[in-house]
Amino acid sequence: MGASLQVPLVDLRAQYLALKPEIMAAFEEVLDSMQLFLGPRVRAFEHHFAAYCGCAEGVGVSSGTDALALALRACEIGPGDEVITVSNTFIATVEAIAMVGATPVFVDIDPETYLMDWRQLEQVVTSRTRAVLPVHLYGHAVEMQPVLDFARAHHLYVIEDASQAHGATCNGQRVGGIGDIGCFSLYFSKNLGAFGESGICTTNNPALAEKMRMIRDHGSRVRYHHEVMGVNARLDEIQAAVLGIKLPYLDRWNEARQAHARTYTEQLSGVVDAVPVVRSWATHVYCYYVVQVPQRDQFRQALELEGIGTNIHYPMPIHLQPACRQYGYTAGLLPVTEALAAKIVSLPMYPELTSAQLQLVIDAVKRNIAHPSLHAR
Ligand SMILES: *Cc1c(COP(=O)(O)O)cnc(C)c1O
Repeated sequence: MGASLQVPLVDLRAQYLALKPEIMAAFEEVLDSMQLFLGPRVRAFEHHFAAYCGCAEGVGVSSGTDALALALRACEIGPGDEVITVSNTFIATVEAIAMVGATPVFVDIDPETYLMDWRQLEQVVTSRTRAVLPVHLYGHAVEMQPVLDFARAHHLYVIEDASQAHGATCNGQRVGGIGDIGCFSLYFSKNLGAFGESGICTTNNPALAEKMRMIRDHGSRVRYHHEVMGVNARLDEIQAAVLGIKLPYLDRWNEARQAHARTYTEQLSGVVDAVPVVRSWATHVYCYYVVQVPQRDQFRQALELEGIGTNIHYPMPIHLQPACRQYGYTAGLLPVTEALAAKIVSLPMYPELTSAQLQLVIDAVKRNIAHPSLHAR
């Protein structure tokens, strides 16, 4: 899927071609130096990305999943501990909790933003709860002040999963610097992505940063001296070189996404059943542009036939996945999350979308929603 479509869901080629000379020159420099990990490119990217998020410290790691697991470990969360999060997310959020041996506890989502409903936190907190893990899904921040207030009252850590929200803000503050630790995936298709697997943790707490640095490098600060059982979760110089080149463009790319979203929303409000909501205190960076449509599966097929890629983020809520069986959740426990999963669809979204491509998508959406045979509700 992708290459054969007129408008793929995501097209990463245009961005690569624009930056190709710069990236190739950086690759050559890194390879000529043969300093391939934890070198100057990693340190520079950590510094610049942390500053971008309004944070003192950045710890480059090998993926977003590892970023979350390292953050949890740095907070000494493990077996017997509970972490409150949402089921409307990518599996990695919950995998990281499982990786450290802790138990995920789910709250439902706000029916308008599809993000963590902080009003439900009080109902699920127990004496074993150690952290809240809000997910800034699709590019819109969770409403953080009530989450922070709740966490402070119960002496909990707040770990943000900001993997889909590089540059998004909540009350003027960039995500990643609002809770104790921010975790970002830098997977190639995110708002900021390397050419492979990468991630980063951001924090204003130097002790937590130091612990994450140690754990990501086999539990050592000094080579071959291992203070704790760590892992190999380092960011490498090749990926850091790509990220360093791309970071200065992130705001421009997010603005392009926002402009596309405005066009979609102007044209599709009242056509689809729901367009993305943006809270007055938030800036949305549209990792995905998610709408609700009737007869979703037929709608997707019709668009595919017209050369337009779509996807579902995500088709099955995490608490109902076979992998989560041991946590004992059944259908009906998170009704807003469950109902949403059957109705959402993501439309093509990436900075380099042209106005002609946007118009193709909009026309196809209008045509295929209006079509009576597809609209039999
Ligand atoms: C992509 C993503 C992750 C995992 O990141 P990887 O780099 O693929 O390990 C975690 N959480 C969310 C919400 C994501 O979108």
